[in-house]
Order: sequence, then structure tokens, then C-alpha cells
Amino acid sequence: MEIPTEGRIVVSACLAGVACTHEAEAKTREWAVQLVASGRAVLVCPEVAGGLPIPRPAAEIVDGDGADVVAGRAHVISEEGADVTENYLAGARVAADAARGAGARLAVLKARSPSCGCGEIYGGGFNKELREGDGVTAAMLKTEGIEVISDDKIE
Ligand code: SF4
Repeated sequence: MEIPTEGRIVVSACLAGVACTHEAEAKTREWAVQLVASGRAVLVCPEVAGGLPIPRPAAEIVDGDGADVVAGRAHVISEEGADVTENYLAGARVAADAARGAGARLAVLKARSPSCGCGEIYGGGFNKELREGDGVTAAMLKTEGIEVISDDKIE
């Protein structure tokens, strides 16, 4: 799909050039940069907003997806074995508050992230296998009635 021509849109900060991934990289997409330039982007990095550093250990959702984490049925665990669920939930709440405050009805988030992934995330085994499901922030935004799209669906 193409980015709508009106309205504010929640965007994963790494897509707009912020080097905030767990490896301290950006995943810059031109449409995201243009949204920032036009003042329509609501940038959020939920993992940093939830108190995690840059760089940080990779993490995956174990025994479920983001909806399960929001419901208290699954956890987010770092590759070092730390339970970072509360950081992920806190970051998701920041994203939801930002979306509500901006009146955004759409979010375009980075594919496959345990926070931002939409429709597909890593499976919890730290072996690159994927599973169906959303990241924690994508799941929480959906509970707010916000449409969430993976960045790899944007042309
Ligand atoms: S949490 Fe989202 S915004 Fe932050 S680095 Fe990961 S994918 Fe990008």
C-alpha cells in the first residue's frame, strides 16, 4: 500500500533514521523521512521509551505473541535470559499515549520486531524462525483501534 496523504501516522523511529535498533542501527525508509519532514510522523521507539539502552541484547517473545504479552500470558526474554516484559509493556503504553495524543489512526511499524512487528515476529527460539503474530506495541495499538501496518507492506 501507499502512505495516506493526510493525517498523522505513528512510525517506528528506526524507519525515520534514528539509530535505535538493538544493534544501534537505523532502518531508514524514504517515506518515513518525508513524513517527518511534513510534520505528520509520530515517532516512537517503544523499546527505548520503555527504558532499554542502545545497543541492547536481542529479545524475543516466548510462548506467545504481543497480544499474549499484553494479556499477561507471555513474556519477552532477552538473548541473555533477562525478562524485559515490563520494559516492552511500558514502551507500548508510551506509543499508545502518543498515538492518542496525536489523534493518529494508523501506525506503520518495523517488520518482525518483538515490539513493532505486525503479522509476523521471531518465534522465541533465537534461531531466526518466524511465527504469526504481532509485537507488543503493535498489539497494544490494535487494542486502541489503531490500524497497524508492517513497513514491508509499504511501497
Ligand atoms: S522497538 Fe521498534 S522503533 Fe525501536 S528499534 Fe525496534 S523496531 Fe525500531
